[in-house]
Amino acid sequence: MKKLGFLMFLVVFLLAFPKVGDASSGSAKIFLDGEQLNLTSGVKVANVNNNILIPIRVVSENLGFKVDWEKSSQSVTVQNSNTTVKMVVGSNTAEIDGSQVSMNITPVLNGQTTLVPLRFVSSQMGMDVKWDNQMKAVFLSSSESMTDPGEATPSEPDPEVPGTPTDPNVPSVPGTPGTLATVDGISFSEDRLMISTSASVTPSVFKLSGPDRIVVDLPNTAFSESFGYEHTLNTQNSGELNVTGYPEVSQIRYALFSDSPSTVRVVINLTTAKNYTVSTENAGLIFVDLNATDSEPAPPIGSSGKKVVVIDAGHGGGQPGALSVTGKYEKTMNLSIAKKVEALLKNEKSIDVVMTRSDDSTMSLSDRTKLANNLKSDIFVSIHGNSNTSSTPNGTETYYTRETSIELANIIHKHLVKATGLKDRKVKPGNLHVTRETKMPAVLLEIGFLSNSSDESQLFNEDFQNRVAQGIVDGIKEYLKVQ
Ligand SMILES: [Zn+2]
Repeated sequence: MKKLGFLMFLVVFLLAFPKVGDASSGSAKIFLDGEQLNLTSGVKVANVNNNILIPIRVVSENLGFKVDWEKSSQSVTVQNSNTTVKMVVGSNTAEIDGSQVSMNITPVLNGQTTLVPLRFVSSQMGMDVKWDNQMKAVFLSSSESMTDPGEATPSEPDPEVPGTPTDPNVPSVPGTPGTLATVDGISFSEDRLMISTSASVTPSVFKLSGPDRIVVDLPNTAFSESFGYEHTLNTQNSGELNVTGYPEVSQIRYALFSDSPSTVRVVINLTTAKNYTVSTENAGLIFVDLNATDSEPAPPIGSSGKKVVVIDAGHGGGQPGALSVTGKYEKTMNLSIAKKVEALLKNEKSIDVVMTRSDDSTMSLSDRTKLANNLKSDIFVSIHGNSNTSSTPNGTETYYTRETSIELANIIHKHLVKATGLKDRKVKPGNLHVTRETKMPAVLLEIGFLSNSSDESQLFNEDFQNRVAQGIVDGIKEYLKVQ
């Protein structure tokens, strides 16, 4: 009986994972207050990993906002009576009524057409935005028709549990009661799978062989709406994580394995059998660590009084950040410096360092802050390069948002400026997602300007980056009072 059960299981398992194809590129539909937008013929909406980009023409003609396009600076300004959103092609920093905000995708120029991220623009303009992954449709509701305006947080709408829509125009997902937790994000770095969920979930993890696999079942879960924005999800509610650089991991797939009871399954395909440890100590975060050996399970992060430092290499994967004057990506510099910081911090006995990403993977801003918040890290340091539409601005600056971060900002900046030797642009307050949404002292370092040729000539230089990493580490150690 047992054996038959297992065989049945195998069959179900094989059926549940049809070979996943390319990211869906079908054109997305847009609904405004329940009515599908009738786009002027020839107007094309772009779907980049389920981030919908719309021509600015649609913003003015269909959504009814005032739009200005300035060709010389490649900037778009979208306005209504309350809010002004300014974006620049290729830059993931937008200005909302004068303060800077990060976007997870940049406006792009496609021939003569400028495309801007639909979710970002409409939510900043006070609309409620929902994505129906099965229909590949975006549902917008203007604020007057929102059923519960108190719920709306325009800058970062919370992913909602499917099946409990606040908007009657959003079709509900069948068979998913309101008690489900949602799977908000999946990432893999340093041989460790990280799954972030909206609530505490106890996973069931087991090994299969022939081929070797590790299977992670998440009972009573479903994918959140936002999941589909950052990950590929096909119409069967399954997809694949882009994993490179791990020879022992051949593929990582995820799927809504069952919908009664609703279960998300993640499968790590291996080229060789590997052990693992599972950690669920941080509510809303599940780690499946493949670094484990039988004899020596890794101690939990931050155990025995160690300080936990989260290092965040800005951007990554499909979000390259700024492009330098010689055509290099900001994400590459950020990661390179972050890894140097990590290597130095690993020598510190009283510090545990955790990277938000340690390869060229895409990670949302909210997953980055969630990682730090759930780990209850002591500090959060985000590493970026600056950019401006003018080639003149140069130098090093440090951002913070909350008052509790000022001391960290001042100390790190002091060491950082000394290390870069670039112009001191000082410590500045800024309304940036990662410094705002984190709960511990958090800073965002703009090492130098990729748009300035003098700064840029140094930013990708190995010696320069080593000095910068040492400066950041000196700052961290001084702040944490670590010898
Ligand atoms: Zn950046």
